[in-house]
Amino acid sequence: MGSVRRWTTRLAIAFLAGGILVAATRGELALAFAGRPIAQPRQADPLRARPDALAERAPGNSPEVDPSPPAAPEPEIPEPLEPAPVAVGTPDFDCTPVAADGYRRGRRTPITLVTIDGAPIERATANAYLAMREAAAAEGHALTIFSAYRTHEEQQYFYDCYRSCACNNCSPAAKPGYSNHQMGRAVDIAMWPEVHAWLELNARRFGFVATVAGEPWHWELRRGAKPPKRPACPDE
Ligand SMILES: [Zn+2]
Repeated sequence: MGSVRRWTTRLAIAFLAGGILVAATRGELALAFAGRPIAQPRQADPLRARPDALAERAPGNSPEVDPSPPAAPEPEIPEPLEPAPVAVGTPDFDCTPVAADGYRRGRRTPITLVTIDGAPIERATANAYLAMREAAAAEGHALTIFSAYRTHEEQQYFYDCYRSCACNNCSPAAKPGYSNHQMGRAVDIAMWPEVHAWLELNARRFGFVATVAGEPWHWELRRGAKPPKRPACPDE
């Protein structure tokens, strides 16, 4: 069952990402959250629909297939275990540790990053998130990160955008050195109401709390959060 769930989850994430999130910006995500309560998530949720769709496309499974010649070229069946890469990152994670500069209260501090959905993220945060993602997937919700760790330069850029309102939709951003994104402990999760409702109910038990009013996609691993018993990316 584990592997079925795993590729179903990968499919779901790849499909979601390809269908909705590939061009998502924070503003669009906010719009999706605020303005399209039901239709978009339903449309994007392939957890039940996708396997059926694959079955229908499999040769021999369709009642409409005529077995007599001339044989039509076989339809191309998507390979479920290797979904095509999508712009927002791969649906999987990479535990390869990368040393980086984190910042807390303006002071630089060394942190270790791994990668989820193509986004660098602090390792303990990644472990908590992956445990949460697995629990969400078991209940039919695909979580995808669209931003986690930020370098000092990136935070400077977002801060400048916030000050000038000339970029990044004028979204609020903390002063460089003072964002939990710079510690890799803040994750921006692709958001729509079903996912948000699930996070509201469940995120806390994995150590995640929503800390920014008006940014339902922004979750942070609180300090002192209990790590999962079997971390996906253990310390070496
Ligand atoms: Zn954020």
